[in-house]
This record gives sequence, C-alpha cells and structure tokens, in this order.
Amino acid sequence: MIPVQGLAGARVAVLGLGRSGLVAARALEAGGATPVCWDDNPDARDKATSEGFACLDLKRAGAFDDVARLIVSPGIPHLYPAPNPVVVAALAAGVPVDNDIGLFFQSFATSAWHNFDTAPRVIAVTGSNGKSTTSALIHHIMEVAGRPSQLAGNIGRGVLDIDPPHDGEVIVLELSSYQTDLARSLTPDVAVFTNLTPDHLDRHAGMGGYYAAKRRLFAEGGPDRAVIGVDEDEGRFLAGQMCEAPADDRVIRISVDAKLTGPGWNVHARKGFLAETRKGRQVASIDLRGVAGLPGSHNHQNACAAYAAARAVGIAPKVIEQAFHSFAGLPHRSQVIAEAGGVRYVNDSKATNVDSAAKALAAFENIHWICGGLQKDGGLEVVNAASGSVKAAYVIGREAAQFAMQLEVETQVCTSMAAAVEAAMAAAEPGDVVLLAPAAASFDQYDSFERRGEDFVAQVTKRL
Ligand code: ADP
Repeated sequence: MIPVQGLAGARVAVLGLGRSGLVAARALEAGGATPVCWDDNPDARDKATSEGFACLDLKRAGAFDDVARLIVSPGIPHLYPAPNPVVVAALAAGVPVDNDIGLFFQSFATSAWHNFDTAPRVIAVTGSNGKSTTSALIHHIMEVAGRPSQLAGNIGRGVLDIDPPHDGEVIVLELSSYQTDLARSLTPDVAVFTNLTPDHLDRHAGMGGYYAAKRRLFAEGGPDRAVIGVDEDEGRFLAGQMCEAPADDRVIRISVDAKLTGPGWNVHARKGFLAETRKGRQVASIDLRGVAGLPGSHNHQNACAAYAAARAVGIAPKVIEQAFHSFAGLPHRSQVIAEAGGVRYVNDSKATNVDSAAKALAAFENIHWICGGLQKDGGLEVVNAASGSVKAAYVIGREAAQFAMQLEVETQVCTSMAAAVEAAMAAAEPGDVVLLAPAAASFDQYDSFERRGEDFVAQVTKRL
C-alpha cells in the first residue's frame, strides 16, 4: 500500500466504496487521515463498516464541514451528464474533489528514495483503445528486462494498493479518461496516448471534453517523455503542443498508418515491421509478423506504444523484441485460445463496440465470425466496411435475428454461443479462423464480456 501523504489529521470524504474507494480509505487511514465514507448501496457500506470505517451520508446538511477533500470513484459522474449530488455539495462547500490517482501521485515519492540509485518511475497509459494491452505489454517487457515493475490502475490492482516501490522500479498505470479528468495531481514520468475514437461521450459532454480529459495526463504534470499516437488529428495536435521544435525528443511519435521519418524520435509499424527512427535515421527494427500474442495492426499500434515507453526508460530493442515473443496477450483481446485441424480459435470478447470489432476483423483472414449481443447506438456500418475477410457470420444474442439483418455477409441466426460455435466449427476449413468479436455489449446474455469470452472458450474446448 501507498500511505497517503499530506492529509494527516484531516477528515477526507470517500464517495463510492467499490475496489478503488475502499483501497483509498485504507491508504488515507495509513497516512493518518480520517476517511468518512459513503456509497448509496447498503452492501458496499456494510463492507466498509466491517473494516472499521465510519460511513456518514455525505448528502446530509453540513456533511462537508471540516472535510479537506472529497475522493470520488471513477464510476460516479463528477460533472457530466450531471454531477452526483455529493459532488455538488462538496463543490458548494468549497471542498476540492479528487480521486485515488491524484492521491497516488501526491504520495508516491518518499524520503526512502534518497538511498536509491535509480528513482522509481511511473509510466501512465491512456487512449480510447489498447490501454490494457499496452500497459500489460510494458509491464511484461520490464519483467523480461529484469526491472522490478508493478501494474495498476484500470487494470490489475488499485493504484494505492501497490507495494512501496523498489530502487529502479517501473510502475505501469492504465488510466481511463474518467481517472485523468478528475485527478488533481497527475505527474507520470512517461505518458502514453495510444489513439482517440469517440467513447464515453456522455461523461465528458462530447468529444472535446473526452479529448481534454486525456490531454490532462500530458498538460498537468509535464512528463519527461510523451509517447503519442499520431494517427488522428488529436494525437498530432497533442504531439505538436508537447514539442519545442520538430527535433525535440521529449515526444516519441508512434504510427501504424504512416512511415515516420521526421527529425525527432519516432516508432512506426508498417507491413508487419516496427521501426525506430531518431534524427532521421533508423536505429532498430523488429519483425512483428511472427509475434503470436500481438496479431493485427491495432496490436502493432500497441506494440509501438509499449516499445517507445520501454525505450524511454532505457530498455534495449533486443530485450523488447524477446518480450514481444513471450507476451501471451490478454484474455478476451484477440487471444488465440486454440489451434486444431489447421483452424485457429480467437477470443476477442472485449470487442464490445464496432470499432474494436472492426480491428479484430482486419487482423485475420478467412473468418467465421461470431458476433451479436446488446447492440450499441450508431449502427453496424463500421463492421460491415471491415467484413471483407468474413466467410460467414454466426449471430448470438437475444436480438440475433435483428442484428443479423443488418450485416452484409452470409449469416446464420444462432442466438446461443453453443449453437454459434457448433455451426462455425462445422463450417471451418484448414486455414480458417473462428473469431468471437461481438461488436456489441454482453449484458443481454452474460454478466460481463469476460463471462461471454469464457463461454466461448468452454464451448470450443469441449468440442476439440
Ligand atoms: P482498453 O483497455 O483501452 O479498453 P484493450 O487492450 O482492453 O483496450 O482492448 C480493447 C478492445 O480493443 C479489444 O477488442 C482489442 O482487441 C481492441 N484493441 C486493442 N488495441 C487496440 C488499438 N490499438 N486500436 C483499436 N482497437 C484495439
């Protein structure tokens, strides 16, 4: 745990008692503050009370008298579409609103570091897609390089739950837009921006607010190095803002669309090859085509981001290449779960929207595509445009027939995962891929995308 510094003796309100809220309460207490907790859900309050925390309704009059700060969980709206009433009360009382990420950055460095040869560093990863994969890959590279490392944030442990860092340790944090929007202190050593496509727009009052939330990671703390995906206007704009001049190597630009040959520091991947260039010269390259854990150009983007972040903390290209080959991928993200009779089975249950499903479709050939579920707004145009390699679609979900009607490939309405896997396996020939990339949420049939992916794996495994 990272005890919170700077709030000893103060009362600190904690709103939301899920994983990150409870960890924040513990870390506040460990730092000498008195947490005052609240969650509208009585079960969550019971859990906090059983740990000895005081729960007080933060909506009651005077709740913010003598409170130094309000810590809010990421799932609770702090501004849009409308702030939670507790946040309104805190702001009316002039109490600063913050989150566990802000507490982490204000508390991370300690006097113990005076004895370290190399100060611990924080690499923070944000972006619309690929955050988890990129963060996990950076962490894996550190492990292969023999550097102490911990992974936390949106993935793995809560940020305040990590162990106090060792000499030379690299902490890798995955940060969502909700988290970067709210944190009062945001000072990573290396900040990574993978890409930007519309998401969570209700929580940010549109695309501008969403982009601004991500940009805070770069604008607030002034990272030593900024790794920035420049395949969208927003990334190019951000890279320009972070630079004094084109050759400024505080920015490492990454791309999977363009060959980057500018005078600064660049990493791009084209036709399956990653190249690092500096001052206009190529300094290293890696063949990504045989890297099983990172299929498709979207994963090559993640590889570029992780490569650049690892280079920024001094890891050699050869070590990174070795780590790419031993990276198993994350469950439910373009994960090859089996290969039998020349057919590959791929679980991308995390493709809950059309953009991520389109990336998965572009990553493979000869696809038997299992898709469908709770459809999101915006239609299926994006996946239809990417379905050139699809041999047939097997549609699941309660509204499978409706979903199937909107597809422009041959379809079978299967409804259940079992029927879809059965049909796809029967049709698949050597060289084909059976891919779960739903382009829809899972909640009509499953509790989560993880359960959906697990069902796919179970249905495939029992038939092999
Ligand atoms: P995040 O943590 O940002 O949600 P993940 O690594 O969990 O990202 O991947 C989420 C989904 O997006 C998966 O379906 C995955 O295959 C797809 N994906 C992964 N990386 C990228 C990328 N760089 N661009 C677009 N889609 C991606």
